[in-house]
Amino acid sequence: MSTIAFIGLGHMGGPMAANLVKAGHAVRGFDLAAASLDHAREHGVSTVASVAEAVSGAGIVITMLPAGAHVLSAWQELVAVVPPGTLLIDCSTIDMDSARKAHALAVAHGCPALDAPVSGGTGGASAGTLTFMVGGDAAVFAGAKALFEAMGRKVIHCGGASAGQAAKVCNNMILGISMIAVSEAFVLGERLGLSHQALFDVASVSSGQCWSLTTYCPVPGPVPASPANHGYEPGFAAALMLKDLKLSQAAAADAGALTPLGAAAAALYQQFADEGFAGKDFSAIITLLRDKTDTR
Ligand code: NAD
Repeated sequence: MSTIAFIGLGHMGGPMAANLVKAGHAVRGFDLAAASLDHAREHGVSTVASVAEAVSGAGIVITMLPAGAHVLSAWQELVAVVPPGTLLIDCSTIDMDSARKAHALAVAHGCPALDAPVSGGTGGASAGTLTFMVGGDAAVFAGAKALFEAMGRKVIHCGGASAGQAAKVCNNMILGISMIAVSEAFVLGERLGLSHQALFDVASVSSGQCWSLTTYCPVPGPVPASPANHGYEPGFAAALMLKDLKLSQAAAADAGALTPLGAAAAALYQQFADEGFAGKDFSAIITLLRDKTDTR
């Protein structure tokens, strides 16, 4: 099997690289943070001190970095050192513009490229159950599918360059809006004297059914594994939801799409972060709605 270079071994990249090792790949990892390197080494990743060392002799390079600026800077460094034909894959969640620029950099250097952001969070990264949404050439995607399957359960080709990022920002805009919708319904239900369980029992089998209700319920009780039962520890932090909602708002402004609920969701998560709750799970947005409800 081809050696894989993995750049960015944080909360997501670390366990993803570990799953590639488990699947039998030789993985050379690089990260700026010593703690990320140490953790990856404990999981069989052979860690190195530079991007150039990581990619030497690697047929595939994967990046999993915080934002578009990190990815563009890493890919600029990459194309200067990898031979043409090396497959470059970015799994980070980044803005559309940076995703397009990263593809263009790769193409100009004769490297096939895929944008392949994920959903499923740190739990999915560890369990190898992520969903990959992939943009890029269909033949390149077909050649890389088995690699994604070593780290995830669902792998979807969404279209050409940057289509994976497009799917990611659209999906997470649905998620942000739907979590607020479910939270508003529970707060209203509380005001109307309705128990959490009664609302859950009705809405989960009625037209209000959605993932934010049935898998990630923002009140304790009905879904025992949801963060509401564990002090709203993430999970998926409100800061990351805010990041993704801002990405969808930037994409909407650029594309001229009308997304008033996406804009309202971004504003609400911004307020939540400004009030000091960026590190809480995103489902804790219900506490902001409840706290702001007047006390008549
Ligand atoms: P993280 O901050 O835990 O990890 C990022 C890692 O990148 C860090 O270890 C950092 O040291 C490293 N890094 C930064 N710049 C670097 C560089 N130039 N070279 C090498 N390493 C560098 O973040 P994360 O939670 O792993 O998220 C990574 C990406 O995945 C983000 O784009 C995020 O939006 C996306 N994502 C995260 C989640 C989640 O639940 N955490 C879910 C889906 C998608």
